[in-house]
Amino acid sequence: MSTGGRPRILLMHPILDPGPAILAEAAEVVAYPVNQPLDEASIRRAAEGCIGIVSQLMDPIRETVLSTPGLKIVSNVAVGFDNIDVPAATSHKVMVTNTPGVLDDATADFAFTLIMATARRIVEADSFTRQGKFRGWAIDMMLGADVHGATLGLIGVGRIGRGVAHRAKGFNMRVLYYDPHPLPPDAEQELGAARVDMGRLLAESDFVSVHVPLTQETHHLLSTPQFGQMKRTAILINTSRGPVVDEAALVEALNAKKIAGAGLDVYEREPAVHPGLIPMPNVVLAPHIASATVSTRSEMSAMAARNMATAVRGGRPPNLLNPEVKR
Ligand code: NAD
Repeated sequence: MSTGGRPRILLMHPILDPGPAILAEAAEVVAYPVNQPLDEASIRRAAEGCIGIVSQLMDPIRETVLSTPGLKIVSNVAVGFDNIDVPAATSHKVMVTNTPGVLDDATADFAFTLIMATARRIVEADSFTRQGKFRGWAIDMMLGADVHGATLGLIGVGRIGRGVAHRAKGFNMRVLYYDPHPLPPDAEQELGAARVDMGRLLAESDFVSVHVPLTQETHHLLSTPQFGQMKRTAILINTSRGPVVDEAALVEALNAKKIAGAGLDVYEREPAVHPGLIPMPNVVLAPHIASATVSTRSEMSAMAARNMATAVRGGRPPNLLNPEVKR
């Protein structure tokens, strides 16, 4: 599909340098109209005549979009790809790519930021100080929980979960993990991480941090029964995807003091946040920014653009999720 001989690609949202230049060298880039809603029918209309789509996590790329004639590749600017129906893409011979690896450290840093912020009540402390409530040192003021020496439970130890385990070593934490795929013994040893079942992880952890992809199996992986198994002093950290945690059940567990707090970067119905979370001082809320550093977002943009450019030129993109499409 082309205009004046050049292939066309649809850029759903702006990306950072050097992404735009890489894309422009490979194809004619069509920007998705700013005011157009992000529903499948609208995306399909915009994608007509394009061989590729550069998508982001808020774009639903499913059957309606993937059946667009001439579409060859969807390049997602994210490591998670739950917004794309990969089996449907495969059946339409559309390649799907993501951006693994380049955001591991930034995301692991941010999970740790949420651990520290919730444990040491930093957001509450900041507004307390700004409001002029600091009238002098007091021995019982803003008491929090220790991070050093505490037990960290990681649900999922892929690239990002391992990065969090690595940081936990510096805080002398005890690290437990639950993952259907065990770490190699040398990695377990290097990270000082012990594999346990989910029940033990929930029962023993002071911080439970979630690092799984969103799939049918991980939807509501944490809900009322799991919160009931956690310590009353425990804090939940979620930087994975919102629907992995049952948000209504989380609000209920926090209200009932079944757990002590939460640090959240992601939500079940983004950009909506459960109204029950808003007034809670023991909850730290971030607007899905775990990978949001200048260098990481720029590297994600470059990687997604390179995946697209390679496919447009007929090659096999480096981060192909469905290799059966391109043998
Ligand atoms: P990864 O594929 O390297 O690791 C995921 C791990 O989860 C794997 O080890 C897998 O075996 C494990 N897993 C799968 N199902 C599980 C289950 N039911 N219970 C326990 N473990 C399970 O992925 P990654 O690069 O570490 O990223 C993880 C997820 O984090 C991504 O899929 C993405 O959705 C999310 N993410 C969010 C942000 C953000 O901005 N908040 C940034 C980057 C990634």
